[in-house]
Amino acid sequence: MSHALSDPALAASAREFLLEELSQLGVDYLARRQIPQAPSMPDSLEQIQAEIAACQNCELACSRTQTVPGSGSASARVVFVGEAPGAEEDLQGQPFVGPAGQLLDKIIESGMGLRRADVFILNILKCRPPGNRDPLATEKQACTPFLQRQLHALRPDIVICLGRHAANYFIGSDLTLGQLRGRLHQSTSGIPILATYHPAYLLRTPSAKVDCWQDIQIAMNHLGLKRPGAAQ
Ligand code: SF4
Repeated sequence: MSHALSDPALAASAREFLLEELSQLGVDYLARRQIPQAPSMPDSLEQIQAEIAACQNCELACSRTQTVPGSGSASARVVFVGEAPGAEEDLQGQPFVGPAGQLLDKIIESGMGLRRADVFILNILKCRPPGNRDPLATEKQACTPFLQRQLHALRPDIVICLGRHAANYFIGSDLTLGQLRGRLHQSTSGIPILATYHPAYLLRTPSAKVDCWQDIQIAMNHLGLKRPGAAQ
């Protein structure tokens, strides 16, 4: 019995059945107030990934080579979020590959002392906008439910946003990266958010790497991580 009701669909059916029975007894209002909704269980990352692969919810489905759902550890404490896949990601179906991805790997490995396989890397959009143009508001609206479900499944300790578009999405603001970076924010769902520069920007502007390193140290302090090689 307890196994059956741990299935959200069965629990919801049971609730509806009870409400129907109580309704016939004239206690509908009371019943609806007193019988709790089944808690929403997160979908598995595999289930979400399968839905992304089949998604046709915006016009980017017509121009993509393949979807880029994200990759990493299902138990990651750290999630990196970029804006959208680029040309190389679109070809490989993997987030942050190519030179920007290699720099992100360096931040994760040499900077944080983690492996890429320890974290999860996502984009707000799962398909590449043609010519790497900025995503349209309608595309973000169509795609972000996938991101929300992925974060619901992952429940990370921190989300590190790469670039201002990703950060503004979580914080619900329209600020520059200079205004966003350098401190922790909180998403509307309560996840700590840190904003820093996109690796592609760091490749064009190496002087910004110092600021990025300061941001990463804020994340490491939050996570209780020591710099690789630092005395224990
Ligand atoms: S960008 Fe998102 S919403 Fe649009 S087709 Fe791709 S997966 Fe679907």
